[in-house]
Amino acid sequence: MTSSAFSFTMQGFDLHFRKAALVHREWLTESYVRVRLRGDELLGFESLGCDDHVRVFFPDGNPDTIEQLRAAPSREYTPVAWADDWLELEFAVHGDSGVAAQWAAKAPLGSIAGVGGPRGSKVLEGSPDAWFLAGDETALPAIRRFAQLMSATATGRIILEVTDAAHEMVIEVPEGVTVEQVHRGDTPPSTALIARLDELTVDDRPNNDVLGFIAAEQSVVKPGRALLLDRWGLDADSVIVKGYWKRGDTEYHAPH
Ligand SMILES: Cc1cc2nc3c(=O)[nH]c(=O)nc-3n(C[C@H](O)[C@H](O)[C@H](O)COP(=O)(O)OP(=O)(O)OC[C@H]3O[C@@H](n4cnc5c(N)ncnc54)[C@H](O)[C@@H]3O)c2cc1C
Repeated sequence: MTSSAFSFTMQGFDLHFRKAALVHREWLTESYVRVRLRGDELLGFESLGCDDHVRVFFPDGNPDTIEQLRAAPSREYTPVAWADDWLELEFAVHGDSGVAAQWAAKAPLGSIAGVGGPRGSKVLEGSPDAWFLAGDETALPAIRRFAQLMSATATGRIILEVTDAAHEMVIEVPEGVTVEQVHRGDTPPSTALIARLDELTVDDRPNNDVLGFIAAEQSVVKPGRALLLDRWGLDADSVIVKGYWKRGDTEYHAPH
């Protein structure tokens, strides 16, 4: 896309599968956990796009071959931080369900996981005039990565849907960026976020070239597009709006 302030460029990568071990787990709230994977095969891992994802495989035991690793159940996660031979991911833990969430919550340290990708990246070039980032816990890793690219004088707004006040997350942002956390309580996922997005009018549109990113339970997609594209008139190429999971759907594959 072209825009005076910034653009996204697609970059593809050869697909790598890497084996690593779970070496550390840090609970940020009672339902959100950061895990660290470590292994020599992670050397050279790279992720250039803030909304990149890797496919994480959860085998029983330690598979001998790539084929065995690839046969294990897998889900998509956003690389949060990495260096040398380690990679950190953050998992929303949703009750007692989900292969991935339960692995992140309970697998013994030393358990093996596979990491495939990222396959391609939407690389941000330039600097948006303003940022608008919204999502639920599953989008927080991507939001954190966008926040890391913000300059000290950046302006913008982040809206995060979480369960309640006890589940609010700490997000480091420059002074000119506001963080608002809406509470879903007992309502279905995305309801509170959609209600907040629906309240925003054309008067809330930041000026000039705005980077828009919205990701959460897939019902957010339509109202998210309605805000960014219809009410705010942003260019489709300067926004990312995605369903990161779908209520009631195991192993949902978001359209890319
Ligand atoms: C590009 C991309 C990046 C993503 N990055 C992250 C990330 O960094 N961190 C992260 O936590 N998630 C992330 N997700 C979402 C994650 O892949 C899904 O939530 C996935 O379904 C979780 O797998 P699971 O095995 O725990 O649950 P599944 O076995 O897939 O689902 C079991 C049940 O749990 C429900 N469910 C799934 N996710 C949630 C949820 N978050 N809250 C409540 N119910 C849920 C399903 O609807 C289903 O009914 C990302 C998704 C995409 C597409």
